[in-house]
Amino acid sequence: MATKIRTIETINPATEEHLESFDPFSAAKIDATLDRASRTFSSWRTTTFAHRGELMRKAAKLLRNEAGDFARQITLEMGKTIGEAAAEIEKCAWNCEFYAEHAEKFLGDERAESTATESYVAFRPLGVVLAVMPWNFPFWQVFRFAAPALMAGNTAVLKHASNVTRCALEIERVFNEAGFPEGAFATVIVPGNEVRSIIEDRRIAAVTLTGSEAAGISVAEASGKVLKKNVLELGGSDAFIVLADADIALAAQWAVRSRFQNAGQSCIAAKRFIVEVPAYDAFLAAFVAEAKKLKVGDPFDPATTVGPLARGDLREDLTAQIDASVKGGARVALGGHALAGKGYFFEPTILEVKDNVVAFNEETFGPAAAVARAIDVDDAVALANKSKYGLGGNLWTRDIARAKQIAARLESGGVFINGMTGSDPRLPFGGIKHSGYGRELSHFGIREFTNIQTVWIGPPKTVAAKKAASE
Ligand code: NAP
Repeated sequence: MATKIRTIETINPATEEHLESFDPFSAAKIDATLDRASRTFSSWRTTTFAHRGELMRKAAKLLRNEAGDFARQITLEMGKTIGEAAAEIEKCAWNCEFYAEHAEKFLGDERAESTATESYVAFRPLGVVLAVMPWNFPFWQVFRFAAPALMAGNTAVLKHASNVTRCALEIERVFNEAGFPEGAFATVIVPGNEVRSIIEDRRIAAVTLTGSEAAGISVAEASGKVLKKNVLELGGSDAFIVLADADIALAAQWAVRSRFQNAGQSCIAAKRFIVEVPAYDAFLAAFVAEAKKLKVGDPFDPATTVGPLARGDLREDLTAQIDASVKGGARVALGGHALAGKGYFFEPTILEVKDNVVAFNEETFGPAAAVARAIDVDDAVALANKSKYGLGGNLWTRDIARAKQIAARLESGGVFINGMTGSDPRLPFGGIKHSGYGRELSHFGIREFTNIQTVWIGPPKTVAAKKAASE
C-alpha cells in the first residue's frame, strides 16, 4: 500500500487561522527538480561573473519593488512585526548587490609561490547545493546562502521550513523573474524527514543547514555517510556580558533590542545576561524598565514591537523551559507566561538565574532573558563559556584594550563589543561548538561551496632555471 502523503499546512501565528495547504512533492517531482538543477549547473558554471552579477542585481531590484508584499507574507506566515519584515527584505537586496559587486574579487585566482614555474589557487563551483533553512528569517536565511552560492557558479535547491512554504515559493519566483535560468534556484516542498534521501542523491554536491542542533546532527550524519561537504548554522545561547565599568543605560537598551527582536526567535539574540556584581542591580532595574516599554500584539500594527511566536509548539517549549527554570530556583523579574486568547503570544520575560537552571543551559527561542551574577571578569568569561553553544556574544565595558583581551578568551564565532550581535555581508558569520561549523557571508562564506583547486604548471623552477643556464 502506498504511504499517504501528508499535506503541509501554514498557519497565521497571530490569529491561529489556516493560511494555505501544500502538497509535498512526489518522488518524480523531486527527481525532475534535481535533474534540472544538475543540468543547469553544467552551463551556469561557465557564465561570467558579470552576467551572474547582472541577474543578482535584478533580483535585488525585484525584492525592493515588491518589498511590501514580501514583508506581508513573512508576517502572515511567521508573525514577526511588519517593520522587522520590511527591514529583512532590504537586507536581502543589499546582500544580492554586495555579492554581485564582490564575488569576482573574492573568487579571483590567487598566485602562490611553489616549485612550479607558475602556480595558483582557483575557486571552482561545487555543483548543486541543497539548502535546508529555518523560518525565523524566512527571506534572509535563504538569500544569505543563495547570493554567494549562485555567484560562485553553483545551483541551489531549497528545502525551506514547512511553516513558511509560501515565502519559499516567492523566493523562487524572484530568482526566476530576475532571469536566472530554470533550475539555477528551485524549491522542493518536503517535510524535514525526507531531507536525508535528497542528501544521498548523487546530483547533490553539498549541503547547508540553518536550524536546530537536532536537525544539524541529522544532516551532518546523512552527509557524512555519503562524504558530502556540509555547513551548519545551528542554535546559540549568546552571552551578553556587562562589566562594572559599562554604560549601563545603553547596555540595557541594546539588551532589550537584542533579546526581544523577532519575538526572541533569533539564533544570535543575547540570551544569557552575565553581569558583574557592582553593576548587577542597576543593570537589572534598567533592563526590566526598558523591557516594560515593549508592546506585544498584532504584528501588522506598526506600534507593536513583539509579535507572536511562530508556532504553538514553540510557545509550549518556551513555557516548559521557564516553568522548569522557576522550579529550579529562578526568580521572575518580569512576565513569565503565555498570553491568553488567540495567537501564540508570550509576555516579555526576564528571569534572575544561577548557572544550573534550564534557561541558562538550554537555548530559549522566544522572548525570555536569563540574568546571572558574575563575581569578576574571570567568572564572567567562565560563565559565558559554560554553554555548549558558541555562536555570537556581547561584551559591555568602557575599557576597549581590556575588551580585546577578553574577546580572545570567549569561545564563540563572534564577539560584539558595546553593541549587539548581528549579521553583515562584509563580516563572516557562524559558530563553533554546538552552534555548528563553516561560515557564511564575506569572502569566507562564498568560498565554502567552492573547490579550492591548486593549479601547478611545470616544469619545476629548478629544471627551468637549469635549462635556461645551459642554453
Ligand atoms: P529546525 O526545526 O531545525 O528546522 C530548520 C529546518 O530543518 C527546517 O527546514 C526543517 O524542516 C528542517 N528539519 C527539521 N528536522 C530535520 C531533520 N531531521 N533533517 C533535516 N532537516 C530537518 O529549526 P527551527 O525551529 O526552524 O529554527 C530554530 C533553530 O534554528 C534554533 O535552534 C536557532 O538557533 C537555529 N537558527 C540558527 C541560525 C544560525 O545562523 N546559526 C539562524 C537561525 C536559526 P521542517 O520545517 O519541515 O521541519
